[in-house]
Amino acid sequence: MTDPIKDHITSRSEQVPVVSDTDVVVIGAGPAGLSAAVSAARNGARVTLVERYHHLGGMASGGMVLVLDDMVNEGNEVVTTGIVSEFVERMERQDGAVYPPSADCLTNWEMWRKWSRWGCIDFHKQGMPQPIIHAVAFDPDVWKRVSLDLVREAGVELRTHSWFSEALMDDGRITGVIVQTKLGRQAIRAKMVVDASGDLDVASSAGASFITGQFIVTTVFRLMDVDTARAEAFEYENPEEYKKLDREARRVIGGAWGMWWLKTPLPGVVWCNCPHMPGYDGLSPEHMVEAEYEGRRRMMALLDFARKNLPGFENARMLGAAEQMGIRQTRLLQGEYVVTRDDVRKRRHFADSVCRGRDYYTPYRALLPKGIDNLIVAGRHYSVESEAQKQSREIPPCMAQGEAAGVAVTQALNAGCALRDVDVTAIQKQMRAQGADPGDLPSANALVADAVDA
Ligand SMILES: Cc1cc2nc3c(=O)[nH]c(=O)nc-3n(C[C@H](O)[C@H](O)[C@H](O)COP(=O)(O)OP(=O)(O)OC[C@H]3O[C@@H](n4cnc5c(N)ncnc54)[C@H](O)[C@@H]3O)c2cc1C
Repeated sequence: MTDPIKDHITSRSEQVPVVSDTDVVVIGAGPAGLSAAVSAARNGARVTLVERYHHLGGMASGGMVLVLDDMVNEGNEVVTTGIVSEFVERMERQDGAVYPPSADCLTNWEMWRKWSRWGCIDFHKQGMPQPIIHAVAFDPDVWKRVSLDLVREAGVELRTHSWFSEALMDDGRITGVIVQTKLGRQAIRAKMVVDASGDLDVASSAGASFITGQFIVTTVFRLMDVDTARAEAFEYENPEEYKKLDREARRVIGGAWGMWWLKTPLPGVVWCNCPHMPGYDGLSPEHMVEAEYEGRRRMMALLDFARKNLPGFENARMLGAAEQMGIRQTRLLQGEYVVTRDDVRKRRHFADSVCRGRDYYTPYRALLPKGIDNLIVAGRHYSVESEAQKQSREIPPCMAQGEAAGVAVTQALNAGCALRDVDVTAIQKQMRAQGADPGDLPSANALVADAVDA
């Protein structure tokens, strides 16, 4: 793609109205930011939550990523609890969450047939059938409603339609942020800042070190009027014919994970976590335009193929693509500690672990940029190598990071200290008090021997 920059101009300085003066400002109301804001507010801080869109949820709602993964370790213990569990319970009460009871979390064909099309499988395991595990299929609109309820109940000041544009710096501290709105630029003053933008917008603006990674992007979509029972029956009764058709479907869409369609809590509605589109930069408007054209072309081609060839899909219609492009990786913080691929794969335990996902542990230092006292990050842009992020960026662990960040900022406020000087054992203790698992106690399979301690 050609470089779109033609020239540079100097922008004028201006008087910017201050619309909020708060203890903590959280940028981004995706899974990580929402959890950070609620956690900080419940711990007594005045919190302002800033979101560029009208809806809350980030990739989980606007991106239509509809299965919560990485919630259990190899021993099938649920390791992302706290706000994650609260979310699941609230969504379930609104008929917006489906997951297997623990008695169904087995490795056999009967359970495979019952649960695999809900996405509740351990896709890290080779061989068939893969184990059925605790993972949660959910509805994106219910996610938005639950998010709003949690924010309102916690007393968080919510500012949507506000696009973060600039960090205000003074002597190594962030004093606030500037957001762009329809009314022009607005300022928010804050003592502590949480960057949960997913793309490291705040930390990069504040001068923190980062790398720019990349992964496939996806225009996720949903189909309606699918006879899922018929589709599943065909798959199990005609495995060879099904395999052939499925291979062809993948060729048409141009890349998908093991199962390109999964059931959702809405009968007859399936979500399609595809196509896989490599080579796009999630920060570049030009790249995103191209990805939008290409993704929509491919999804309509798949619909056409499915209607003509796949039993159960004869009457399928396009319910719609996600409001947000599915961006998995852009900027990644290079902070006080950078989590490596080895750390994730070998299940390395850290003494300063404050949250976890599946069998990996997140040290507190991986949320902290170097050289900025009052900024913390949470979510998919945390301090991690690109390859390691691909295996440690699912929604529940991002929420757990947010919950820990919310605890950390309130403890820094109470102690009047820099974030890096917060007593990590106090964060771990508070996470446990909130029902979350900080990962302070390694599971039996963790690598503790050569732990990289704080
Ligand atoms: C296609 C795809 C499929 C995936 N599949 C799964 C899966 O099956 N299961 C799973 O658990 N995870 C999955 N993931 C990963 C998961 O969705 C993300 O890693 C997770 O949502 C990250 O959460 P986050 O809060 O860090 O970031 P995001 O979800 O990206 O949220 C960031 C929030 O910040 C807001 N924001 C960004 N910039 C600004 C700004 N400048 N000003 C104001 N607001 C801003 C955004 O609008 C958004 O609300 C998938 C991801 C993708 C893209």
